[in-house]
Amino acid sequence: MGEYTKRTCHKCGYRDIQPNMVQKEIEYTSGSSNTGITGRSLIAAGFGDKKAQAQNRKYLFSPSKRVYKRRRKVWLCPDCAGVKHQSTAENLKEIGMLILRQIVGFLILVFLIWVVIMTVDG
Ligand SMILES: [Zn+2]
Repeated sequence: MGEYTKRTCHKCGYRDIQPNMVQKEIEYTSGSSNTGITGRSLIAAGFGDKKAQAQNRKYLFSPSKRVYKRRRKVWLCPDCAGVKHQSTAENLKEIGMLILRQIVGFLILVFLIWVVIMTVDG
Protein backbone atom coordinates (compact mmCIF):
# COMPACT_ATOMS: atom_id res chain seq x y z
CA MET A 1 0.00 0.00 0.00
CA GLY A 2 1.28 3.39 -1.04
CA GLU A 3 4.46 2.02 -2.58
CA TYR A 4 4.20 4.08 -5.72
CA THR A 5 3.50 7.73 -6.27
CA LYS A 6 0.36 8.37 -8.28
CA ARG A 7 0.75 10.46 -11.39
CA THR A 8 -1.90 12.38 -13.28
CA CYS A 9 -2.01 12.34 -17.08
CA HIS A 10 -1.28 15.82 -18.45
CA LYS A 11 -3.74 15.37 -21.32
CA CYS A 12 -6.73 13.43 -20.05
CA GLY A 13 -6.34 13.59 -16.29
CA TYR A 14 -6.17 9.83 -15.83
CA ARG A 15 -4.46 8.83 -12.61
CA ASP A 16 -2.32 5.76 -12.10
CA ILE A 17 0.79 4.62 -10.25
CA GLN A 18 4.09 5.94 -11.60
CA PRO A 19 5.33 2.66 -13.20
CA ASN A 20 2.22 2.62 -15.40
CA MET A 21 2.71 6.17 -16.59
CA VAL A 22 5.09 7.61 -19.18
CA GLN A 23 7.18 10.70 -18.63
CA LYS A 24 7.52 12.97 -21.62
CA GLU A 25 9.16 16.32 -22.26
CA ILE A 26 6.79 18.78 -23.90
CA GLU A 27 7.32 22.20 -25.42
CA TYR A 28 4.93 24.92 -24.50
CA THR A 29 4.66 28.63 -25.02
CA SER A 30 4.31 31.11 -22.24
CA GLY A 31 4.31 34.81 -21.54
CA SER A 32 2.00 36.00 -24.31
CA SER A 33 -1.24 36.10 -22.38
CA ASN A 34 -1.14 39.64 -21.01
CA THR A 35 0.11 41.46 -24.13
CA GLY A 36 -2.71 40.56 -26.52
CA ILE A 37 -5.44 42.87 -27.69
CA THR A 38 -8.68 42.16 -25.93
CA GLY A 39 -12.08 43.67 -26.59
CA ARG A 40 -11.79 45.37 -23.26
CA SER A 41 -8.38 46.91 -24.06
CA LEU A 42 -9.69 48.22 -27.41
CA ILE A 43 -12.70 49.87 -25.79
CA ALA A 44 -10.53 51.27 -23.01
CA ALA A 45 -8.10 52.66 -25.62
CA GLY A 46 -11.05 54.22 -27.45
CA PHE A 47 -11.99 56.03 -24.24
CA GLY A 48 -8.46 57.40 -23.91
CA ASP A 49 -6.97 54.85 -21.57
CA LYS A 50 -3.21 55.39 -22.00
CA LYS A 51 -2.29 52.04 -20.53
CA ALA A 52 -4.65 50.19 -22.90
CA GLN A 53 -3.37 52.22 -25.87
CA ALA A 54 0.19 51.31 -24.98
CA GLN A 55 -0.81 47.69 -24.62
CA ASN A 56 -2.44 47.65 -28.07
CA ARG A 57 0.55 49.37 -29.65
CA LYS A 58 2.90 46.92 -28.01
CA TYR A 59 0.86 44.05 -29.40
CA LEU A 60 0.72 45.52 -32.93
CA PHE A 61 4.43 46.27 -33.17
CA SER A 62 5.77 43.23 -31.41
CA PRO A 63 3.16 40.53 -31.55
CA SER A 64 5.49 37.68 -30.85
CA LYS A 65 8.05 39.38 -28.66
CA ARG A 66 6.83 37.88 -25.46
CA VAL A 67 6.26 34.33 -26.61
CA TYR A 68 8.79 32.01 -25.08
CA LYS A 69 9.21 28.38 -25.88
CA ARG A 70 9.78 26.35 -22.79
CA ARG A 71 10.22 22.71 -22.06
CA ARG A 72 8.92 20.79 -19.16
CA LYS A 73 8.41 17.23 -18.14
CA VAL A 74 4.91 15.91 -17.78
CA TRP A 75 3.38 12.56 -17.03
CA LEU A 76 1.12 10.90 -19.60
CA CYS A 77 -1.00 7.79 -19.52
CA PRO A 78 0.08 5.12 -22.08
CA ASP A 79 -2.83 6.05 -24.37
CA CYS A 80 -1.91 9.73 -24.58
CA ALA A 81 1.80 8.91 -24.81
CA GLY A 82 1.07 6.78 -27.87
CA VAL A 83 2.34 3.57 -26.29
CA LYS A 84 0.74 0.65 -28.07
CA HIS A 85 -1.46 -1.51 -25.92
CA GLN A 86 -0.96 -5.10 -26.86
CA SER A 87 -3.82 -7.38 -26.04
CA THR A 88 -3.45 -11.14 -25.64
CA ALA A 89 -5.28 -11.64 -28.95
CA GLU A 90 -2.77 -9.43 -30.74
CA ASN A 91 0.12 -11.30 -29.11
CA LEU A 92 -1.33 -14.63 -30.23
CA LYS A 93 -1.77 -13.30 -33.76
CA GLU A 94 1.87 -12.22 -33.82
CA ILE A 95 3.06 -15.59 -32.50
CA GLY A 96 0.83 -17.30 -35.08
CA MET A 97 2.36 -15.22 -37.87
CA LEU A 98 5.86 -16.07 -36.63
CA ILE A 99 5.10 -19.82 -36.59
CA LEU A 100 3.48 -19.55 -40.03
CA ARG A 101 6.54 -17.79 -41.40
CA GLN A 102 8.80 -20.50 -39.98
CA ILE A 103 6.62 -23.25 -41.47
CA VAL A 104 6.70 -21.51 -44.86
CA GLY A 105 10.48 -21.13 -44.54
CA PHE A 106 10.80 -24.82 -43.65
CA LEU A 107 8.62 -25.89 -46.61
CA ILE A 108 10.71 -23.79 -48.99
CA LEU A 109 13.85 -25.46 -47.58
CA VAL A 110 12.31 -28.94 -48.01
CA PHE A 111 11.28 -28.05 -51.58
CA LEU A 112 14.82 -26.84 -52.39
CA ILE A 113 16.37 -30.03 -50.93
CA TRP A 114 13.85 -32.09 -52.94
CA VAL A 115 14.74 -30.16 -56.11
CA VAL A 116 18.48 -30.77 -55.47
CA ILE A 117 17.89 -34.51 -54.83
CA MET A 118 15.76 -34.82 -57.98
CA THR A 119 18.40 -33.02 -60.02
CA VAL A 120 21.15 -35.32 -58.72
CA ASP A 121 19.03 -38.43 -59.40
CA GLY A 122 18.11 -37.29 -62.88
ZN1 LIG B 1 -4.10 10.42 -20.88
